[in-house]
Amino acid sequence: MDVFDYIVVGGGSAGCTVTHRLVKAGKSVLLIEAGPSDNNQFVHMPGGFVRLFSTERVQVYQSEPQTAAGGRAISVPQGRTLGGGSSVNAMIYIRGSAEDYDEWRDMGNPNWGWDDVLPAFKRAESNQRLAGPFHGTEGPLPVSDTRFRHPLSFAAIRAAQEAGYSYNDDFNGAAQQGIGFYQVTQRDAVRGSTASTYLQAVRRDSRLKVMLRATAGKILTENGAAVGVTVADDSGAATAALAREEVILTAGALATPKILMLSGIGPAQDLGALGIPVVRDLAGVGINFQDHLDVPFYLRVKDPISLLGEDKGLKAARHYLQYKLFRSGLLCSNVVEAGGFIDTTGSGRADVQIVFIPLLLGDPPREGPPGHGLSINPAVLNPKSRGTVKLRSANPQDPILFDPKFLSAPEDLAGFVRGLKAVRKIGSQPSLKTLGAVEISPSGEPMMSTDEDMAEHTRRYAKSIYHPAGTCRMGSDDDAVVDSHLRVRGVPRLRICDASIMPKIPRGNTNAPTIMIAERGADFILGAR
Ligand SMILES: Cc1cc2nc3c(=O)[nH]c(=O)nc-3n(C[C@H](O)[C@H](O)[C@H](O)COP(=O)(O)OP(=O)(O)OC[C@H]3O[C@@H](n4cnc5c(N)ncnc54)[C@H](O)[C@@H]3O)c2cc1C
Repeated sequence: MDVFDYIVVGGGSAGCTVTHRLVKAGKSVLLIEAGPSDNNQFVHMPGGFVRLFSTERVQVYQSEPQTAAGGRAISVPQGRTLGGGSSVNAMIYIRGSAEDYDEWRDMGNPNWGWDDVLPAFKRAESNQRLAGPFHGTEGPLPVSDTRFRHPLSFAAIRAAQEAGYSYNDDFNGAAQQGIGFYQVTQRDAVRGSTASTYLQAVRRDSRLKVMLRATAGKILTENGAAVGVTVADDSGAATAALAREEVILTAGALATPKILMLSGIGPAQDLGALGIPVVRDLAGVGINFQDHLDVPFYLRVKDPISLLGEDKGLKAARHYLQYKLFRSGLLCSNVVEAGGFIDTTGSGRADVQIVFIPLLLGDPPREGPPGHGLSINPAVLNPKSRGTVKLRSANPQDPILFDPKFLSAPEDLAGFVRGLKAVRKIGSQPSLKTLGAVEISPSGEPMMSTDEDMAEHTRRYAKSIYHPAGTCRMGSDDDAVVDSHLRVRGVPRLRICDASIMPKIPRGNTNAPTIMIAERGADFILGAR
């Protein structure tokens, strides 16, 4: 059996980050990734990521029917390739608000307040335009402005200002609120995933072994401590590897709790019912699931100016050539170029994120309504609904039993109603009216007018924006899965460093926060030596 200093399970946003830091510190590392390499042009070309849906590089987790969402099963796609989410995501670079991390600290996690996490955000970052107290310029992760900006993104930004929202050109600076263009994890119009940056920088180091198309099944334990993992390749053939120091789980918020439970670490009653011997009874594994949803708000426009049809035939060929020859044009776009953060309650904090999408976008791969237009989607940033990830059986091949309990908290539905009113106000401003923008419904039913209409629209059309988090929460209470150094409570030599440790989902997109968590995880691991 191969023996390494550390085994990292899951080569996604977090896994590639931790691996980089450990190898740089002179440690030997085995990185196990279930998916294939990131060697695919649609990973690296920013506008190509929409083509990755329905390919082997995206794994779709299907929920149980959601009672509070019209009985629908809602899908949550996740990256399944080197770089994980950072290789397939929309590249929006957002950290959340400073108060989010102060809340983490106040939830029993010393050293996770804003002042504690800001240095890790900055250390990760290499910002092309911004520097100063909030930004790093020397890190592995490239952050830049989008090279291409669609006319509909500009129009929506102007309309939002006409509606009274201020313009913000740095959502990760002194204030999160306002409307503007997002910065993206790109450099020179090429995606900067953690695989193409962090991992690539150590890829040739002889201390690193990367296993692709390799699925970790169980953590091996000895006297209750983690000592290694079992791994199966695509044919199902199994092997095992041992770690001298630690096993680090970075398989993401839907797979990390699965691996723990398959290994006998989780709620003893559930494990017992499936015949899995209990290594450590941890009631909090798989509970506290959180995600951001958004809901479509569609404006049809008069002229054929949206992205509709740009990915087909001669138009697509022209964009492709322009990108290949000059690194310019539509394929430099991350599609979700602009949006912002608004306060719909008057609390002083943003509670709704808005995205402007220059297309009548459905829930990929499901298409949106026909015609040219713009989607202005509100997302509730601080959802109160909490769901669960459980095992269906003791068989690692079986999908998880996934009940996100989306919209189960009435506050979430109320947030969407406020968010829809805000985007409707933006949609009615002169800069969009001049394009002939008219509100349309997703499938021809009557327009929303009352609050109840908007709530019903949300129940029918809300969809995940792919930020699963919180299923192995950090804390110091009985339901916490990891402590504030990311060590699994009661299981020596086992750590979790991915989005599953978030006690509460931050108010924004989750890639940068996950990379920050992994940076801090690496600090704790190396500091512990
Ligand atoms: C389509 C999409 C768009 C998004 N857009 C944005 C955005 O614009 N901005 C933003 O900030 N965030 C975005 N996100 C969210 C963000 O990318 C994620 O929050 C982040 O990638 C989570 O990182 P992670 O390391 O926790 O998990 P992941 O990056 O998902 O990594 C987990 C890795 O573990 C692997 N794995 C799972 N199980 C096993 C196993 N048993 N053995 C071995 N390997 C395993 C998976 O294949 C995967 O590569 C998006 C996500 C998606 C899917």
